[in-house]
Amino acid sequence: MVRPLNILILEDNPADVELMKIELKRSKIEVEQYFIVDNETDFKKTIENHDLDIILSDYTLPQFDAPTALSFIRENAPNIPFIVVTGNLDEETAVDTIKAGAWDYVLKERMVRLSPAVENALKLKQERERSIEAEKEIQYLKEFNETIINTMNQGIFVEDKEGKIIFVNPAIEILTGYSRNELVGKHWSVLVNEETDEKINSTIKESATDFSNHYEAEITSKQGLQIPVYISTSNLKKNSKFKGVVVVLNDIRPLKEKEGELWEAKNKAEESDRLKSEFLANMSHEIRTPMNGIMGFARLLKQEGPEDDAWEHYTDIIYQSAEHLLRIINDIVDFSKIQAGQYEIQQDEIELEKFMEECRILFEENKKNHGKENLDFIISIDQDLKNKKIIADRIKLKQVLSNLVENALKFTLKGTIELGCYIEGEYIRFFVSDTGIGIPEEYHEMIFEKFRQVDSSATREYGGTGLGLTISKELVRIFGGEMSLESEPGKGSTFYFTIPLKFSGKEKMKEEPIHNVNYDWKDKTILVVEDDYTSFLYFENLLEPTNVNLLHADTAEKGWEFYLNEEIDLILMDIRLGGTSGLELTQKIRNHNKTIPIIAQTAYAMSDDRKKCMDAGCNDYLAKPVEMENLFSKISRFLNNPSS
Ligand code: ADP
Repeated sequence: MVRPLNILILEDNPADVELMKIELKRSKIEVEQYFIVDNETDFKKTIENHDLDIILSDYTLPQFDAPTALSFIRENAPNIPFIVVTGNLDEETAVDTIKAGAWDYVLKERMVRLSPAVENALKLKQERERSIEAEKEIQYLKEFNETIINTMNQGIFVEDKEGKIIFVNPAIEILTGYSRNELVGKHWSVLVNEETDEKINSTIKESATDFSNHYEAEITSKQGLQIPVYISTSNLKKNSKFKGVVVVLNDIRPLKEKEGELWEAKNKAEESDRLKSEFLANMSHEIRTPMNGIMGFARLLKQEGPEDDAWEHYTDIIYQSAEHLLRIINDIVDFSKIQAGQYEIQQDEIELEKFMEECRILFEENKKNHGKENLDFIISIDQDLKNKKIIADRIKLKQVLSNLVENALKFTLKGTIELGCYIEGEYIRFFVSDTGIGIPEEYHEMIFEKFRQVDSSATREYGGTGLGLTISKELVRIFGGEMSLESEPGKGSTFYFTIPLKFSGKEKMKEEPIHNVNYDWKDKTILVVEDDYTSFLYFENLLEPTNVNLLHADTAEKGWEFYLNEEIDLILMDIRLGGTSGLELTQKIRNHNKTIPIIAQTAYAMSDDRKKCMDAGCNDYLAKPVEMENLFSKISRFLNNPSS
């Protein structure tokens, strides 16, 4: 619907104005308002101040004319239809007028043409407005796409029929390292390796038909990097004719990395699963072997009774098997502690020469147990370390050396095992070398991983859980050092490890008896608080030669009674008792007596019992099974009268 019109009439003759109005009225063209002007100033003012629908203009006026008015309109209001209404107009001038921007012209003598001319002009105006809107929309779409193409992460390039690149977006520049100028005009094969080249070629061959293709491929960056991409191609057509190909490249490096990580994780999980099963089978075998020894020989002893010569041999076997079993349990406990990050390092003062001598005694003993008496065992300490005291964790250092020497004994049939140490910068380097079977190079790293063994077959010759080296390496790491290996199959192996070198400032070390010490504690009384009668019997047997006076309380309450009524020199306290616990009893005694020595004993090596015991007021701590040497050395420290 056309609304009532605002019409500007540029005319100096009022009669002609009237004629125009009559004609429009006759044709029922609704008019809101007429603006009648006859000079340039009023004309321009009206254009500026009113919303006009059409201009009807005489060709010549006294001080103004249609061409001048038209040129103003072209500049300032090109969408208002301009119709020249004139007395006479030759053909040439009419053409010029139209060229100058007039939409139509009407001769005054044929005024009936005015209304159709106005109606046509208004229609034309509407169409023009619509096409301007459409053009704006297209412009917006065009810009919209450009923004998307410029901001998208995917690289896009367009190639023509001959394969020449005619367009690239910024992402292509980032992806390939080539600038737009370096790519446009080049054949697209500059971006791809041969394999992808063929793939795209074959897809292009199919381009006669509609195609759109997706595949994985690799492109080559300017720096020569092979980049995995996901390619989508689609043909470009104009008027149904093939013009080229649009290629969209998705960088799939992050995807590939994730895929790689997933594969690795999957393989690791499978491997770990396999190792776990292998470990369980292995462990079952490892535990059953000493258990067989213990049970079999205990049964034999029971059946046959103690015959002099066999008795010692049988009990030896039982003892060694039990020791073996304990080692396995300790390994598992240590491994769990390491995994749980529960390892604390003690700062003990160690007289190195003496410590190595202790190791020698221990290992000579082990040699016998392994039936390897033929092996030579050498200890070598660098001159710089002789007579020196260092600070390190005595028990754990011995544990690492023991693991390495045990392995050396296990894997060496003849020749020599050497244990030594020397200073290397700010570290002490220990080494254990053997002339055993050696380790192939491909296993040099792997054997330090949990459960790993060179021979993991069911028919393997050597026992073991595959935990010793893992624990040792981790302990060394906790000490602040490193473990390494040199080995050649058939020639032997040398395991090295370092610990930070810390000399002790103290002059004299407290003497701790190692073995073969006879104690005389006949004037002393030890209270054993222990609810397991077998454990008490064990203490009684061990301590009998010292003539110590032993009191046994199997509950905390009885222990308290003894404490109140007897003269007691030392208490061996089982911290886990039925009813009131040993820890509670310790606290109760401590509230009463700050000096009486209390040594805790517990079978729960996994927990933080040591700390709990010390917090409750114990002076020291023994883990079950209690070793004789350890027991004597700790008791003697408190009773303070060892006699050799
Ligand atoms: P285990 O000895 O209980 O199997 P370890 O972690 O101590 O576990 O050792 C892992 C593996 O490393 C052994 O099974 C063996 O294959 C290899 N290995 C360790 N020490 C030696 C050695 N001195 N000579 C040859 N092989 C060794």
